[in-house]
Amino acid sequence: MRIAVLSDIHSNLTALDAVLAAAGSVDAIWHLGDVVGYGPDPDGVVERLRGLGAIGVRGNHDAAAVGALDTEWFNPDARRAIEWTRERMRPETHAWLEALPEIVAEPPFVLVHGSLRDPVWEYVTQSTVARASLDLLPSFGVLHGLFGHTHLPSAFCDDVAQVSVTRPADGSRIGLDERRMLLNPGSVGQPRDGIPESAFLLLDTEAGEATWRRVGYDIAQVQARMRSVALPERLAARLAYGL
Ligand code: ZN
Repeated sequence: MRIAVLSDIHSNLTALDAVLAAAGSVDAIWHLGDVVGYGPDPDGVVERLRGLGAIGVRGNHDAAAVGALDTEWFNPDARRAIEWTRERMRPETHAWLEALPEIVAEPPFVLVHGSLRDPVWEYVTQSTVARASLDLLPSFGVLHGLFGHTHLPSAFCDDVAQVSVTRPADGSRIGLDERRMLLNPGSVGQPRDGIPESAFLLLDTEAGEATWRRVGYDIAQVQARMRSVALPERLAARLAYGL
């Protein structure tokens, strides 16, 4: 099976469509949450994912958009974008977001937004934090965890005595071997590793391999649409810097 793993799409349909075109023919699309928030296309992104039969999990922005998480936990720009989303999204978009589970097991993988011990909120940015989630993988009957939330392409592998950390670039591959590992595709709609191109991950279960990819999209067009609907300027500006 070839599976495209997409995270933190953040209501950016232009980026999502560029990623889907670059991924080519796949057998499944999995998403790791934060489908909405920040960007201008909550209905368009959810409609696209629904149409493709994507499966996935709830992120903190998705939870806040449906009223399941208090927006006081978010910075002012993020909060404004969540409120904007809440007021405008269609009922069917709301219903689809509301139905997203916090954890999905698709052996030999498990999908979460944040971490295995705190699926919606915890940021896995360092090996000491990754350790707790790596230790929880067997309780889901799997070796490999897929997570998002940090917007940083990354891999945390359990290498006997230590957790090794890598920051994969476009084309980086990792063998899905017997080691426990946590893989983050990076963000489709708002990358934060200093590279503005959308990031995603392709899984090839027959070859036993995961490959990180980057693809450009029309950032200026998305920024123009954000400005035309008065989403916070800082959220539009940062797309050009990938930060
Ligand atoms: Zn996010």
